[in-house]
Amino acid sequence: MKPQNDPRRLHLSSFAQAGGQLLGDERLAHFERLIAETQGVGAETRVHYCAQGEMRLGGDGANQVWLRLTAHAMLALTCQRCLGPAEVEVEFARDFRFVATEDQAAVEDELCEEDVLVISRAFNLLELIEDELLMALPIAPMHDTCPVPVQLQAADDDFDLGEEEKPNPFAVLQQLKRNGPH
Ligand SMILES: [Zn+2]
Repeated sequence: MKPQNDPRRLHLSSFAQAGGQLLGDERLAHFERLIAETQGVGAETRVHYCAQGEMRLGGDGANQVWLRLTAHAMLALTCQRCLGPAEVEVEFARDFRFVATEDQAAVEDELCEEDVLVISRAFNLLELIEDELLMALPIAPMHDTCPVPVQLQAADDDFDLGEEEKPNPFAVLQQLKRNGPH
């Protein structure tokens, strides 16, 4: 592997100038924050990614460093209906533009459609992939059809009881009227 093509230490400008492409996969076990989302399930699952570097001419006539990044993985997330593990495909495809400084990135990220990041000679691509996959996680993962019939959760039962115990204000009013001093 050419040194500038190490996904953990990517030399971004060389990669873009060469029109480099990096196609790979990495064990889920290497992504600590992602595997926390699967409760440690699927350490051997592969996270597949494809990074394409390119130089594009900016509006000001200067060359810009761009990266097109896609990644996907099947993750065993917790089904929010039956609480069992549900295999969910998580993926993203995004374009990133790289600028020289943190300040420039902050300003331009607000103004532009693409994501603007700070350029680096030892860019950790895997970290960016993990950030993006975490953001692409479904808010409430669920089986299409749960493998087990879903029982009412204990918490729901308590909730219902709580509702019943609370006297209905109109019923109280009725009672007051009936027992009133007439
Ligand atoms: Zn389910």
